[in-house]
Amino acid sequence: MSAIKPVRGTHDLIGEDQRRHAHVVETARQVTSLYGFEEWATPIFEETGVFSRSLGDTSDVVSKEMYTFTDRGGDSLTLRPEGTAAVCRALVTNGLTQSLPQKVFYAGPMFRYERPQKGRYRQFYQIGAELIGPGEPLADAEAITMGRDVLAALGIMDDVVLELNTLGDVESRAAWRVALVEYFSAFRDRLSEDSLNRLERNPLRILDSKAPEDRELVADAPALSAYLNDDSRRFWDELRNGLTLFGVAYTENPRIVRGLDYYSHTAFEFVTTRLGTQGTVLAGGRYDGLVAEMGGPQTPAIGWAGGIERLAMLLEAAPVVDRPVVVIPMGAAAEKVAIGVLNQLRGAGIRAEMAYRGNLKKRMERANRSNASHVVIIGEEEVEKGTSQLRDLSSGGQTEVATSALVAALQSGGAGTSA
Ligand code: ATP
Ligand code: MG
Repeated sequence: MSAIKPVRGTHDLIGEDQRRHAHVVETARQVTSLYGFEEWATPIFEETGVFSRSLGDTSDVVSKEMYTFTDRGGDSLTLRPEGTAAVCRALVTNGLTQSLPQKVFYAGPMFRYERPQKGRYRQFYQIGAELIGPGEPLADAEAITMGRDVLAALGIMDDVVLELNTLGDVESRAAWRVALVEYFSAFRDRLSEDSLNRLERNPLRILDSKAPEDRELVADAPALSAYLNDDSRRFWDELRNGLTLFGVAYTENPRIVRGLDYYSHTAFEFVTTRLGTQGTVLAGGRYDGLVAEMGGPQTPAIGWAGGIERLAMLLEAAPVVDRPVVVIPMGAAAEKVAIGVLNQLRGAGIRAEMAYRGNLKKRMERANRSNASHVVIIGEEEVEKGTSQLRDLSSGGQTEVATSALVAALQSGGAGTSA
C-alpha cells in the first residue's frame, strides 16, 4: 500500500498560514460591513448547471477545471469553482430578487482542476463581494473602492495597482468580436490549439490566454474602444469619473477580459508584481445577465473575488497570537486549585493553559516553548496559604500573590521584578 498523502494542489492551513488566512477574511468582513454588506454562506457544491450554464462553456473553468461528479442519486454535482454563480442561484431560490439591493460578502474554499504552482491550487480560498441591484456606473466605482479599501486595510496597497477595462455592452462586443475573428484568422498557424478552438466559439477568450504564442499576437489585437457604442462609452466615462471622486487611482488596460463569460462593461484586476506570474490578487466586474441565467428577472450586478492565498503571501507579517499564561500545579490538591484558576483567567478573557505532567523543570520548559507570558506555580505550601507564585517570563520576576487576586495582578502588568 502506498503512503497516504494530501491531494495534489491542496494544502493544509496550520499555524501562521491559517492565521494569515483568518486575518484576510476578518479584515474583508469588517471593511465590507462598513459598506453595508452582509455575509452569506452557500453550499460548497451545486448542481452542475449552476456553473456550466453561467460561466460559459468555452471558459477555462467550465471546459477543463471543474470537479464534477455524479452522486449516488444520479445527479451531476460540481464543487464550486467560484462564488458569484452560487450567490445568484441563492438570490433566486430564496426569493430575494424583489428585495434589492442585496449586498453580499462571502469567504470560503473554491475548487479548480488547475496545474498547481505558487499561488495556484486546486483547492484555494476566496473572499468575495456582490452588489446586486444597482445598474449605474457609480455602483461599480463603489464596489471597486471597497476592494481597494480591503487591500489598504491589509496594508498591501503599496504593492498593488488597479487595472481597469470596459467590455462594453452586448452590441459593442458583437462588433468587436467580428474584428477579433478577422484579426486572429490571419494567424491561424501561430495560435495555440486552445485558441484555435476559441476562434469560432469565443474569440474574446483568446485575449485571456496564458499561452506565450498567443500573448504575442494578443498584444496587437484590435481594442474594444474603437467599437464602443454611445451607451457603453457613457458608462465607461462615468465609471472613471466615479473612481476619481472616490479617490481611487487606476491604469487602463484594454487586455483585461477576465476568465469567465458573464461580464459586461466593467472589468478590473488589482495586480501585484511581487508574486511572479500569479499576480492578480482581487478581480471582478459587472455581470448583468447572470441572475436571469439562474431563472430570475433581469438584474444588474457588480462583484469581485480575491484569492486569499495570494493576499496572505503579501501580508507584511503574520498576525500575532496572545501569549498564554500557563498554570503549573504540583500535586493533586494543587491541581484542583489550578482548575479554578484556569476558569477565572479564561473568564476574564486571559488566554490560559494547563501544564500537564512532568516535574517542574519540564513543565517550565514547555511553558517557555509555548511562548507563555507568565506561569502560575501552585505547590502544596501555596495551596495551604491560598496563594500562587506568579512568574513573569519576560522579566524573570516572581511574586507570591493571593490566588483570588491573580486576574487583577495579571491585568495590572503581572509580576514585578522582585525575585
Ligand atoms: P487567473 O487568471 O489567475 O486564472 P481567474 O480569472 O481564473 O484568475 P477569478 O476566477 O476571477 O480568477 O478569481 C479571482 C481571484 O481568485 C484571482 O484573481 C486569484 O487571486 C484567485 N484565484 C483564482 N484561481 C486560483 C487558484 N487556482 N489558486 C489560487 N488562487 C486563485
Ligand atoms: Mg483561472
